[in-house]
Amino acid sequence: MSVYLNGEFLPRAEAKVSVFDRGFVLGDGVYELVPVYSGKPFRLDAHLHRLQLSLDGIRLANPLGIAEWRERILQLIALQDFADQSVYIQVTRGTPVEGQPLRDHAFPQGAPPTVFMFAQPLVTATPGQKAAGVCAISAVDNRWLRCNIKGISLLANLLLRQLAVDVGCVETVMLRDGFLTEGAASNIFVVKDGVLRVPPPSNLMLTGITYDVVLELAARHGIPHEVRPIAEAEVRSADELWMTSSTKEIMAIVKLDGVPVGAGVPGPFAMRMDALYQAFKQDVMRL
Ligand code: PMP
Repeated sequence: MSVYLNGEFLPRAEAKVSVFDRGFVLGDGVYELVPVYSGKPFRLDAHLHRLQLSLDGIRLANPLGIAEWRERILQLIALQDFADQSVYIQVTRGTPVEGQPLRDHAFPQGAPPTVFMFAQPLVTATPGQKAAGVCAISAVDNRWLRCNIKGISLLANLLLRQLAVDVGCVETVMLRDGFLTEGAASNIFVVKDGVLRVPPPSNLMLTGITYDVVLELAARHGIPHEVRPIAEAEVRSADELWMTSSTKEIMAIVKLDGVPVGAGVPGPFAMRMDALYQAFKQDVMRL
């Protein structure tokens, strides 16, 4: 398995970063995760655009141009011996150069960013999860107020998601000030009375690439949808709840805090959207 590190493709064991890298010591970096189907990256330009927004958000100059990113990512994909992949991309503020403090909150002068990428086999929802749905719990969203930056400092998300894992569930649905934000590692959609509802992009959540695709598909196929703040009561009285992400795609949440959502099985809108999403993927991959 080859990984990419600062301009080189290397066997995994040979890729080495300084212990003083600000990603390691301070969590000072951003990342992306791009799903790859049959060797083709899905919505790569959207992921690279979001990476740019994250880099802008942490005031780190993008070390590569779009064409260079594309070329390197395609090279990395081609080096793997599995077709469906998730490509992880990480850019950190690098390692302070000689003469600079080893660990200082202030940005270092002259440190080149560290660019690291690897691919691993894509793990999507299992057929069992698709058929039966999954359970989730809710929790107060206690993260910082810049959740639109896809930062590598994921402690709050990890702790929140682990609350779900600890009780055998898959995701934590987060609420802030009585309103839905997102999942610990996904966006959350609500279906009520035949209308798809989802919170608007803001600093309180990461706008998923899957979120955008789902809304595009809803518009294209005439599925009623509303992008507006969603109150906790609407989450709790939903006919359907979904989590969406690049790896989980559209996954029905059938139980929230132990209470069945709607009929307690994946609903018709989730199944329709999943079918539309799968067809859309196939179409895009054929191009
Ligand atoms: N929100 C958070 C906090 C996430 O970690 C993710 C997964 N990266 C998402 C939303 C969904 O984003 P995407 O659809 O681009 O995978």
